[in-house]
Amino acid sequence: MKCAVFGCTNGYKKSAVECSLFTFPTNPSLARKWMKFCRQGKGFNFKNCVICMDHFEREDVVNNLQYELGFANKRILKRDVVPTIYKVQVEKQKITEEQPSDRVRRRENRNILSEAPTSHEGFSKRRLLKNGAVPTLYKDNVEQEIDEATKLENKRIVDELLKQYDADLTKAEELKETTIDISENMDEDIEDFLKNEHTLIENQESQNPLHVSYTQNSGEVSDTEQKLIELKRANDALQKENSQHRIELAAAKRILIGEQRRHRYAVQALSKRLTIVETQKKNYEKKLESIFSKSQIEMIKNGNSVSWSTSDIEAYKVIYTTNSTIYKFLLEKGFPLPSIRLIESSSPSPEISKIIKRVQEQEQDQNQNELQQQDADLYEEEQQQQSPSSLQSLMDHSYSEEIEFEILNE
Ligand SMILES: [Zn+2]
Repeated sequence: MKCAVFGCTNGYKKSAVECSLFTFPTNPSLARKWMKFCRQGKGFNFKNCVICMDHFEREDVVNNLQYELGFANKRILKRDVVPTIYKVQVEKQKITEEQPSDRVRRRENRNILSEAPTSHEGFSKRRLLKNGAVPTLYKDNVEQEIDEATKLENKRIVDELLKQYDADLTKAEELKETTIDISENMDEDIEDFLKNEHTLIENQESQNPLHVSYTQNSGEVSDTEQKLIELKRANDALQKENSQHRIELAAAKRILIGEQRRHRYAVQALSKRLTIVETQKKNYEKKLESIFSKSQIEMIKNGNSVSWSTSDIEAYKVIYTTNSTIYKFLLEKGFPLPSIRLIESSSPSPEISKIIKRVQEQEQDQNQNELQQQDADLYEEEQQQQSPSSLQSLMDHSYSEEIEFEILNE
C-alpha cells in the first residue's frame, strides 16, 4: 500500500511504526475532503486507498503516546479529521529535478505571476497574459492552493514552536542541574534564596494583568468592607439608642398606667360622693316641699322674681294681718314670703276675710278672758295680802297694780 497523496512516496519502504497509513473515512463528505487533498485529478477512486500519517497533525491521532509506548496496536485518528500537511515540498524538488510535471510547472508560473506587480499597484493599466499561456485552474483548485499556503505557514509556525519548546526544555534541564547545585549550599543561602524567589513572585504578580485587576478589585472590596463596618457601627449605635428609648417608653407607660388607675379611683370616689350628695339634696328638697309652697321654693332657689299664686298671697295675708311686726321680721330674715306691698294691694276673698275676722274675734275674746283672769288673780292676791304684812309691800303692790292697769288700757 502506498500513500494516495500526490507526490508522497510513503507506504512502501517505511514500517508502520515509522509511518502509519489511514484508510479513507466512510462519511462521503469527509472522504471527498480527503480526496481533494490527494490532488490526483479526475477519475481518482479512493476505494482501497490510504493516506500516510505525515499529512496529519500529531494531535489528530488519538493514541500517539500509547502506540509509541506499545500499549496500542495501531494509531487511531480522531473523528472528522482532515489531512492538512502537504509534505511533498522536499520530494517535490526531487521530482522537479527528475521530470518536472505539468502541475509543478503550473505552480511555478503562478508564483511568477503573483510576484509581478499588479494593475492596481499602478505599474500597468491592464493585466497581460504570457504568450502560449493556457487556463488551467478551476475555482476549487484556487481555494485549495490558498488552503495549502496557510497550511504551510501553520506548519512553519509549529516547527518554530517545537524548536522553541526544545530550547526551553534544554534550558529547564540545565536549570534543574544548577538548582540541585544550589540546594547543596541551601543552608547558607536559604534566606537570600527565599527572599529572591519571593520578590520574583511578587514582580511576576504585579506584572500580571490579572493580578492588577485583582488588586484593584480587592481595593474596592476593602473600601466596601470599611463602609460596611461603619454602617454596622452606626446601626449598633442606633439600636442602643432605640433600646434606651424603649426603656424610657416602658417607664412612661408604667407611670401613665398608675396615673390612670389613680384617676379612675378618684372618679369612682367622686361619683360615690355625688350620689350621696344627690340623695341628700333630694331629701332636703322633699323637706322643703313639705314646708314651703312651690313659689316659695322657687324663691329660695332663684331670688325675688317670683310670681306668687293667689292661694299663697291669701295664706300669708292671714299671718300679716294677724301680726304685721312678726311678718316684717320674717321678711327681713329672708323668709320666702310675698312682699307687704303685694299683700296690702290684694283684696282678700270673702272666705279669707271671714277667717281673718274670726281669728281677730278669737284674739279679742282671748284677751278679754285673760284680762278677767288677771282680775281674778289680782283679787285673790289682795285677799291673801290682807293679813298683817308690811305696809310697804302693800304700797308697792298697789303701785304696780296701777301701772299694769294703765298698760292694759292702752
Ligand atoms: Zn503520504
